[in-house]
Amino acid sequence: TSQTPLSALSADDLAARLTTVRADYDALKERGLKLDLTRGKPGSDQLDLSNGLLDLPSGLKDAAGTDVRNYGGLDGLAELRAIFADLLGVDAAAVVCGGNSSLTMMHQVLTALLLKGGPDSPRPWSQEPVVKFVCPVPGYDRHFTMLAELGIEMVTVPMNADGPDVEAVRALVADDPSVKGMWIVPTYANPTGAVCSTEVAAELMAMPTAAPDFRILWDNAYAVHHLTGEEIKSADALGLASASGHPNRPIVFASTSKITFAGAGVAALAASPENRAWYLERLGFASIGPDKVNHLRHIEFFGDADGVRAHMRRHRDLIAPKFDAVEEALSGRLSGLDIAEWTVPSGGYFVNLDVLDGTASRVVALAKEAGIALTPAGSAFPHGDDPRDRNIRLAPTFPVLAEVEAAMAGVAVCVELAALESLARD
Ligand code: PMP
Repeated sequence: TSQTPLSALSADDLAARLTTVRADYDALKERGLKLDLTRGKPGSDQLDLSNGLLDLPSGLKDAAGTDVRNYGGLDGLAELRAIFADLLGVDAAAVVCGGNSSLTMMHQVLTALLLKGGPDSPRPWSQEPVVKFVCPVPGYDRHFTMLAELGIEMVTVPMNADGPDVEAVRALVADDPSVKGMWIVPTYANPTGAVCSTEVAAELMAMPTAAPDFRILWDNAYAVHHLTGEEIKSADALGLASASGHPNRPIVFASTSKITFAGAGVAALAASPENRAWYLERLGFASIGPDKVNHLRHIEFFGDADGVRAHMRRHRDLIAPKFDAVEEALSGRLSGLDIAEWTVPSGGYFVNLDVLDGTASRVVALAKEAGIALTPAGSAFPHGDDPRDRNIRLAPTFPVLAEVEAAMAGVAVCVELAALESLARD
């Protein structure tokens, strides 16, 4: 059944529909739901897939004979670096395996750039009058809060279906040396699910920048997190950068947070030889080595990169139905009303929902009152400021399927109610 766009309804029809949808909303509140779609966390059934880790490692040494219980090996176990290298499409020699959080590695890189500068910096970034970062929006809230915390200003560019808007980025970086870097989630971006094409990646790696030490933090958190049988390969950031004469521009990050245990996985970084040596030198003042017991556990659990890929298909079997439920709830109620657009991602952890301009905060408030917790409106923008107040990030992986269905049916009611209220006011 095709529905009439709400904006085409007469004042009377609008008022009648508002009455009906208010009744739907009251019925929703009556149900006393307590559901949470706020954070991209794995469900407990996903965590169970990796319970085998709890009985590992069975050995005490890696292939090179290193006793993993002892100190040392700052760059991580070689066999694990090889697995990350295969998954990320980089040389094993470029990889460092660290602790449990890639976000922490990004923070280390930024603080080192601020305090010491990179290998090609004229001076530490903190000695510049202003430091700015280009932020594709909507984007990952923790990237933005980290920059704000470190005093780095944010300038936004649109995130398109094939990656950041290259022309907008070029315009910001070409003449302003205070623009020192940018953040990209290249594959199945948080929250839009966009995949950065090789063409876009090549332009970003090759573009002229006024800052000689421009950095692209290439946060490939969802590199292998496919939701369909089409397992898209990420663009080769390091190769493209090196080919265009800017080998130090990108630093690649990833982790097993959404592969094994979100809180007890392994994070990795990959970079040019110069960047890698620079990172390890800084790290050497902060650590005598990573948790190699956990590294060995992961090596034994997976065997190789194909072991990871097979494991990711088991994740997909568990979470793809939840993404289908989001799509069915939204299109079931909202298709044709012309008040919302949403992504149908082929990977990653999120659905990006854009509602009628000016109504996102109202939708989140209505949902909250009905017992459905959503990520605060605007959180995918620097300082939580969505200039159009229309963006909502949905994270369907953590609740069980029946809860996703119930929550999303409720969200669809809230989206329609907020739109009707707004249209009835105009
Ligand atoms: N980057 C992105 C884009 C993410 O969505 C997340 C998790 N929500 C992270 C990084 C966090 O990674 P980690 O657990 O390795 O710190």
